[in-house]
Amino acid sequence: MAKARVGLYSTKGDALTRTHKFCPKCGPGTFLAEHGNRRSCGRCGYSESKAASPAPAPVAAKAKGKS
Ligand SMILES: [Zn+2]
Repeated sequence: MAKARVGLYSTKGDALTRTHKFCPKCGPGTFLAEHGNRRSCGRCGYSESKAASPAPAPVAAKAKGKS
């Protein structure tokens, strides 16, 4: 029995969930490496920033004009 590559997938019940994104240039099969705030492809050099989790709004935008 072939063993799944640990780390690239996570199993929850019967569902198989991708934990890594595929490279949009290299296509399915090539995963992007996970970094702190970005992902990169070690094959073609593609990189993208993580924007999945919206950052809190800057304080300046909220506390404007308060006197
Ligand atoms: Zn790539």
